[in-house]
Amino acid sequence: MTANIASPHGNQPGTDVLVIGAGLSGLMAAVHAVQAGARVRLIAEGWGQQLIAPGWISVCDRADDDVIAEVRGYAALHPDHPYAKAGDDAMVHGLEAFQAITAAIGLSYDRRRRDGHNMRLITMLGAIQRVMMAPRGIANSDWTDVTESILLVGLRGWRDFYPELAAGNLRSQGIEARAIRIDLPEPPGPWDRWPTDLARLFDSSAFRAAIIKQVQPHIRGVEKVGFPAVLGLDHHTEALTNLSEQIERLVFEIPTLPPSLPGLRLSNRLRRWLLRRGVRVQIGHPVTRGLVEGDRCVGVEVQALGHVTPFYADHVILATGGLYSGGIQTSETGRVWEPIFDLPTAGPDVPGREGWYYDRLLKERGHPIHRQAGLRVDHDLRPLNAAGEPALANVYATGHMLAGFNPLTDGCAEGIALATAYKAVHTALELDDKNHRGATDTGL
Ligand SMILES: Cc1cc2nc3c(=O)[nH]c(=O)nc-3n(C[C@H](O)[C@H](O)[C@H](O)COP(=O)(O)OP(=O)(O)OC[C@H]3O[C@@H](n4cnc5c(N)ncnc54)[C@H](O)[C@@H]3O)c2cc1C
Repeated sequence: MTANIASPHGNQPGTDVLVIGAGLSGLMAAVHAVQAGARVRLIAEGWGQQLIAPGWISVCDRADDDVIAEVRGYAALHPDHPYAKAGDDAMVHGLEAFQAITAAIGLSYDRRRRDGHNMRLITMLGAIQRVMMAPRGIANSDWTDVTESILLVGLRGWRDFYPELAAGNLRSQGIEARAIRIDLPEPPGPWDRWPTDLARLFDSSAFRAAIIKQVQPHIRGVEKVGFPAVLGLDHHTEALTNLSEQIERLVFEIPTLPPSLPGLRLSNRLRRWLLRRGVRVQIGHPVTRGLVEGDRCVGVEVQALGHVTPFYADHVILATGGLYSGGIQTSETGRVWEPIFDLPTAGPDVPGREGWYYDRLLKERGHPIHRQAGLRVDHDLRPLNAAGEPALANVYATGHMLAGFNPLTDGCAEGIALATAYKAVHTALELDDKNHRGATDTGL
């Protein structure tokens, strides 16, 4: 909902950029704004989808050759696609900036520099997922150039990863894979551990030493060794390096059931990076409505600690996600809407909910509600009103909530989150690409 009010900026310290949302898109928008020297506040009801997603970055999963070239070609033919709205430069710089900041916070993300193709990564069911970029541990599973066998390691008694199942499915695709199970080298813990419990154990060098001892006898003829993605939380890079060195094989991670450790590591470190640079980060606080004066948003109201507090800012980045994150709402009558500013929201072109889903669950192009629900924006990423004009001069929408693509089936949602976060902040702050700076400061 939107309220027309006089803007009592009160005695709050000034905020140049207010980001709503702590998904990939909101977090990166905050990073770009900080790097541009802006005063930034980030408010989110909770963390975004990265806490349950695998952790890799899909830019264009269906691309067979150079991914960036394929995206450029696709965007040229589809002017309403978010990649076309954000533009080529935003995609390229958005990816580069993400790779730079993740390296700076000690979580390197890799891609195939040699030919720009997608990597071929291993999933927990033993399928192959094509993606452009991934945290190093997951990227290490790229089997494109593997000639020998891989070994998958499971933890006896743990219900979230079945190495035999994955290895069997890999073999059926012609990939030499074996599976073993090892014991957790400590007294029995809770009967059902979370990935985070295991990751904390892998942070300890003594724990890892006991794991290494059990794996070493099985590595003859093996080129790489895969574990579920629980190899450390706070000391992940150290754990990955240590395991690779001691097992004397490249060690990789396979995404498991939620919570996603790759997403958790990223969220924790980006939050720390932002806090150390003076960003006000409020997670757990829902924004309930926008405060509008004329054609500008002057701030938002936030419901927290039992009362409503207004926060004011010069620019607002709306990164509240789609149907499953609260950024887009639906009702049983078939209404589809954006709840903070009540912005016009596209939905399936049918009355009621009749046409939202096809009869079959699995459809290659996905269901109409997923493809068609979202905010239409101009080339500055400002949401449009019913007349096709920017609804508000200083509000920019990014990521999953945008119309023009299907975030569930198109294999590009993370690339869009990064490209549009870059574009929105650079447009809001009127930066050109010369102002673009990667994260060269490594302080956490
Ligand atoms: C299991 C899973 C697997 C996936 N796999 C892939 C894949 O392989 N490839 C791919 O491209 N994509 C994949 N995705 C999708 C991709 O991860 C998301 O599209 C992307 O991360 C979205 O980022 P976002 O920042 O736009 O939104 P989100 O991550 O949805 O973040 C939205 C944020 O807005 C906040 N918010 C919402 N409403 C309010 C409010 N009123 N006030 C304050 N805050 C609010 C939320 O709390 C959250 O912090 C997957 C998603 C899931 C869940």
